[in-house]
Amino acid sequence: MRLSRYFLPVLKETPAEAQIASHRLMLRAGMIKQASAGIYSWLPLGYKVLRNVERIVHEEQQRVGHIPMLMPTLQSADLWRESGRYDAYGPEMLRIRDRHERDMLYGPTNEEMITDIFRSHVGSYKDLPLTLYHIQWKFRDEVRPRFGVMRGREFLMKDGYNFDLTREDALHAYNRHLVSYLRTYERMGLQAIPMRADSGPIGGDDTHEFLVLAETGESEVFYDSEITDLKFGDRQIDPTSHEQCRAVLEEFTSRYARTDETHDEALFNEIPEARRRVARGIEVGQIFYFGTKYSEPMGATVQGPDGKPVPVHMGSHGIGVSRLVGALIEANHDENGIIWPEGVTPFHCGIVNLKQGDAQADEACTALYEAIEALGLEPLYDDRDERAGAKFATMDLVGLPWRITVGPRGLKNGVVELTSRRSGESEELPPEQAVEKIAQIYGKAV
Ligand code: ATP
Ligand code: MG
Repeated sequence: MRLSRYFLPVLKETPAEAQIASHRLMLRAGMIKQASAGIYSWLPLGYKVLRNVERIVHEEQQRVGHIPMLMPTLQSADLWRESGRYDAYGPEMLRIRDRHERDMLYGPTNEEMITDIFRSHVGSYKDLPLTLYHIQWKFRDEVRPRFGVMRGREFLMKDGYNFDLTREDALHAYNRHLVSYLRTYERMGLQAIPMRADSGPIGGDDTHEFLVLAETGESEVFYDSEITDLKFGDRQIDPTSHEQCRAVLEEFTSRYARTDETHDEALFNEIPEARRRVARGIEVGQIFYFGTKYSEPMGATVQGPDGKPVPVHMGSHGIGVSRLVGALIEANHDENGIIWPEGVTPFHCGIVNLKQGDAQADEACTALYEAIEALGLEPLYDDRDERAGAKFATMDLVGLPWRITVGPRGLKNGVVELTSRRSGESEELPPEQAVEKIAQIYGKAV
């Protein structure tokens, strides 16, 4: 993309209403624009990152066998009356009436709708296990929408639902989700720690939240520092293997890590003092096993092996797709702007032309641009007639992990400059080698 033809409305001033870095930077980098409280338009740069996050979530869900679909945002109140949640949900639910006076709502989550789909089409235990998911906009009329996309009213969520014959199978689905979530966050360049959360009416070890450590996080968290050394890495886990998935769950949840909802001071104090940590975190996902809570009242049964109908065991599992964009910035920025991890960056590298209009510099930039595109990567070429300082400031603000700087002086010696946004380190090298480096970083063959 040539910057002169793009739509990147960066702001010079720091918006006064934004209290935390990610919100400020998303506004300044022209990623979002508030439409009304807690509701945002995703401008082109923000939209690209949102799509990248979404793509990784899709790939990792499907890697473990979960099936994508799409349910609507508007739902009928009748379904929610069946589960008893229409009255129970409270003022966070946006209630709407259509022209025929039918009660509708903008879905805050989809347990009822997916259970209805399941009971209409699945009749036998032979069709299990089944996990369906979608990535769809949700609406929750939060009392205090704030921090930009981190606590919006309209927000994008991946929500998945497992249907299993037995409690044991459903707990496997739970463990499998934990495995896939660990991989998902790591691919984005984030460490998200599974923490025991409030288990609600069912009790037991049946819900974990995934938290990204950040000073601006809304949850207070307590953990054993050893947990931050755990990496999922590129281990190959068979998603159908109960043992393998359980082993991962045990490894990642055996050390103390809890949110304030479930914190137990006495247990916490059993950790050696040097390893005790109290910090803040951003919740970027949650997994939940809830058994037959919806299947029973809504009649979602299957014929079991003995021919008798049994209610299915279910769980639901969410990832905050739009919140992740904010969380990624909270975890990756400095005073000059965003620093995108390679996995989610909106453009793979920037090209800065120090002397626009200089025939040789223009030609070298175009050649680099074409070579990088030919790799299947997307460069952002700052071809505006601007001072070098302004171009660098824009690149630093929007946070592309790599920048190639091209100027007449370097070209005389046959070199351009490749700079890492994260370390700030630069090296001079011939343009072809800069392209090779970029290819290598993104795992592309030259
Ligand atoms: P919170 O405690 O932050 O209000 P929640 O526990 O009510 O969230 P879940 O129902 O677990 O939310 O939703 C799954 C994921 O969706 C959360 O882990 C979070 O990442 C994201 N999410 C929830 N509410 C919002 C919101 N208002 N804005 C943006 N993302 C949200
Ligand atoms: Mg939650």
